[in-house]
Amino acid sequence: MESAEPAPVDIGEEYRLLIGGEWVTPDAGTYPIVDPNTTGVIGHAPEASASQVADAAAAARAALPGWRAMPMADRCALLGRAADLLDERIGSLAGLVQGETGATVNVTESMQLPSCGERFRQYQTPVNLDETLAPYPVEANPLGPGGLAGAHVIRQPVGVVACITSYNFPLVNVAGKVAPALAMGNTVVIKPAPQDPLAMIKAVGIIEEAGFPPGVINIVTGPGAGTGAALVESRDVDMVSFTGSSAVGVKIMEAGAATMKRLLMELGGKGACVLTEDCDVDAAIGAIATVWGFHSGQICTAPTRVIVHRSRHDELVDKLTAVAGMLKVGDARDRGTVVGPVITEAHRDRVEGYIAGGRAEGATVLAGGERPDRPGCFVAPTLLVDCTPGMRVVREEIFGPVVVVLAHDGDDHAVELANSSDYGLFSYVFAGDTARAFEIGRRIESGNVGLNSLAPHTHAPFGGFKMSGIGRDRGVYGLHAYSEMQALSWLSR
Ligand code: NAD
Repeated sequence: MESAEPAPVDIGEEYRLLIGGEWVTPDAGTYPIVDPNTTGVIGHAPEASASQVADAAAAARAALPGWRAMPMADRCALLGRAADLLDERIGSLAGLVQGETGATVNVTESMQLPSCGERFRQYQTPVNLDETLAPYPVEANPLGPGGLAGAHVIRQPVGVVACITSYNFPLVNVAGKVAPALAMGNTVVIKPAPQDPLAMIKAVGIIEEAGFPPGVINIVTGPGAGTGAALVESRDVDMVSFTGSSAVGVKIMEAGAATMKRLLMELGGKGACVLTEDCDVDAAIGAIATVWGFHSGQICTAPTRVIVHRSRHDELVDKLTAVAGMLKVGDARDRGTVVGPVITEAHRDRVEGYIAGGRAEGATVLAGGERPDRPGCFVAPTLLVDCTPGMRVVREEIFGPVVVVLAHDGDDHAVELANSSDYGLFSYVFAGDTARAFEIGRRIESGNVGLNSLAPHTHAPFGGFKMSGIGRDRGVYGLHAYSEMQALSWLSR
């Protein structure tokens, strides 16, 4: 998707909440959305009151019987129609997305915008998930006579799904939840991240025009944790599909326990990137440099934790240092910019805190490490070497343009280092051939492992081991995630 210059953003535009098919004024007023490129205000987002959050959940509950009764083919047809509308019109949101997320032109055009329609398109075709089990002989017993037991296993929607998402890819993260949830017959309440909900509100306006019945899709926004927390506690919500930090994921599990919420947890990552002694270092460098150049490292799947064979270490870090120095840091709207801002000043300070902490723990900063001399929330591409497994910069998710490098002495050592992490979302292996990468990859405790490539398979299950989450989505696995299995069994005599 490549567009002309995006339309200017109207700072005075009024945004509303969608509750039960009505676009309503927020009871709690609005709060400012800050452009991380400049720290100026780019718009004002609605702040839902507690009763409006409850109304949204109740509206989704009221819409559920009609929606789940609709044939899957009809639901999927609406998703296909929504995908068409998104593909036609999502480009109009480019300026807003760049302004509220700080995504560069490349990230906006290659991922933020087109992936939204793609996620809907993936679920435009109905799928039969039912299965009939082989007949099973049952002997007469105190419960009744013997016979041949049969069972049919069907997938039922879970019910009302609260889709609570992170700030990094506001449209994609929501679309990836809403589309499979709706295809399965659930209704949804969307709660986007507080930092950048405006384009998502507009995208819901586009999606809604496909003709979804009132209450099937609702959206509420707010500046703090309260809006999401209220949904997690609501008895009208059956499932929480969450994308965000592991720390908040823990809170949601705790709060959701009282009402036995079904959970899909897409949480943090600290992607290991293993390089063997026979790998193509230049290919690996292209991949590692995406930590800097692809949304400033604010992507859960980024290969931030490089584990390189000692014999290739110096070559790798010399080349990475040279690449880091070439990447242009600047306003996301400038077509020449490779590294845009991180989302807020607070997050920039947090990332800087990690870099300072790494230095204090003995890491050497070979690139970056100083705040770029310009207004906005910028962090220069940063490379830390001489790292050891116990350092905070190695253990914790930084979520910024920061790469840490460790050296290994062979495949077993590399796997041990890769697995010495609380996270296990997306890791990578660069080896001389794919077969060797495959053998190493299967030993890494990670829900996904890229072999000599960063490219994920669109239909492969996506999700994390360990603190990186619970459950899987994408492709047919997304339909599994948003459904309950029901077994209907009988006895033939
Ligand atoms: P975050 O955890 O701070 O916030 C995520 C969402 O949770 C926001 O909408 C926020 O308002 C809401 N929230 C906060 N407290 C809540 C509470 N008590 N109850 C309910 N909702 C609450 O995350 P973030 O800073 O927006 O995003 C960055 C994180 O997201 C990183 O850890 C990143 O790895 C992760 N992430 C994971 C994936 C994945 O697919 N695994 C994808 C993208 C981002």
